[in-house]
Amino acid sequence: MKMYVGTEWIDKRQTIPVTNPFDGSTVDTVPKGDADDVERALQTAVRGTKAMRALSGYQRAQILKKAAELLTARTEDFAKTITLEEGKILAESRIEVARATEILVLSAEEAKRLGSEVVPLDGAPGVTNATQMGFTLRVPCGVVVGISPFNFPLHLVSHKVGPAIAGGNAVILKPATDTPLSALKLTQLLLDAGVPAEGIQCLTGSGGEIGDKLCADPRVRKITFTGSRDVGERICKTAGLKKVTMELGSNAPAIVMPDADLEKVAAAIAATGYANAGQVCISTQRVIPHKAIYGDFLNALKTKVSAISTGNPLAEGVKMGPMVRESDAKRVESWVQEAVAGGARLVTGGERQGAVYAPTILADVTPEMRISRSELFGPAVAVTPANSIDDAIAMANDSNYGLSAGVFTQNVNWAMKFAREVESGNIHINWGPQWRVDLMPYGGLKESGFGKEGPKYAVQEMTELKMVVFHLS
Ligand code: NAP
Repeated sequence: MKMYVGTEWIDKRQTIPVTNPFDGSTVDTVPKGDADDVERALQTAVRGTKAMRALSGYQRAQILKKAAELLTARTEDFAKTITLEEGKILAESRIEVARATEILVLSAEEAKRLGSEVVPLDGAPGVTNATQMGFTLRVPCGVVVGISPFNFPLHLVSHKVGPAIAGGNAVILKPATDTPLSALKLTQLLLDAGVPAEGIQCLTGSGGEIGDKLCADPRVRKITFTGSRDVGERICKTAGLKKVTMELGSNAPAIVMPDADLEKVAAAIAATGYANAGQVCISTQRVIPHKAIYGDFLNALKTKVSAISTGNPLAEGVKMGPMVRESDAKRVESWVQEAVAGGARLVTGGERQGAVYAPTILADVTPEMRISRSELFGPAVAVTPANSIDDAIAMANDSNYGLSAGVFTQNVNWAMKFAREVESGNIHINWGPQWRVDLMPYGGLKESGFGKEGPKYAVQEMTELKMVVFHLS
């Protein structure tokens, strides 16, 4: 595909192949954008801010609603594109398209709600309604840059572009190099829906090469980033005095207390630890069962996890596809081997075929092991027993990350203790960490980032508040 920069779909002499992670075949190529393309995109976006500001809330809502309708009509094409470039199974890709559609609908609704608030200035000493009246005005940020990761190539792009358009901004998208096709198709769809030609652009190319120029430029007012912790930190340093939203990584924990229904817990961990081959920022990575049910829980989980079939993600019936790159599957393999060498026990899995890594359970993992400390982002869970709820919460919090966490218990006191004490942006009682609907506020604590997504919350971050005071005579 071509990239959309400066109101044109353009090619470059240098291109980057987009590879099917399952069989290594080339799905397509995209242009390798460079510094000149960044400059052109920025100049266009600055002009685009005028076109976007000129649209009323009603018009922006209509465009986003139309985009949602078009996406529904193009579901199968988008789902197949996601599976081909990213490797998740077709059933998950269809859900991703449905969720992206929902994000556009939610963004359309928010476009109509960006109102002002009368501020009761007469609450200040010496001020009366006869002397001063004041209200807020919410205005667009201007140029918004949205940088997205590989693992949800449509859904996460929609969480950026939907609220940005709802807020009346001009957007420059920079999708992940592994999975740029869904974002390019979404850009075409938004243009078809009526976004002004200068209001959106999609720049492809290596983030490491063009990212600094894009993020450092003072014409950009807002950067919304989803991706790894280290790239997020670099962007924060480069960005300087800009508004930034950081949706970063995690190594999400799930605690299992002795009063939980272990069959249900096993089903929940199998669902939340291995979807998209574990390449989900809120994938269950660390499971912390109470020692009283440790063995029974492992038996129940083994039954569920060994039933997850792997293979070609386009084939119906396959439950888990490849990782995005063979190098990532090799990395997961080496972390698992390192844990086993350190005393962990392989309960199931542990094999690799190309980019497909078998769904894996490791027991007797200690908190010092790499698989407990860093973000694995792969289809393995690390199980470590705990002595008590306090011990389990301490282990859950023994992480630089804090994006999502779950506890399984029928005890309301344990559940509330967990909700209060676990340092995490999302808390789930009786489900694993991987659960999200797109209207809720979503974002991490600690090194998992800051700022919230979910159109109602993101649109606040994509706009700015002015205070207007009338001095009356
Ligand atoms: P990544 O390597 O951090 O890349 C994310 C994006 O940043 C890509 O578009 C990448 O471009 C770009 N980039 C790289 N270097 C850059 C720079 N110097 N300046 C600006 N942009 C730059 O992440 P990933 O491997 O694609 O995705 C996995 C990570 O995303 C995991 O850590 C996961 O937890 C996190 N994630 C978080 C959430 C959340 O909501 N919190 C959701 C999903 C994923 P290139 O592809 O061209 O390098």
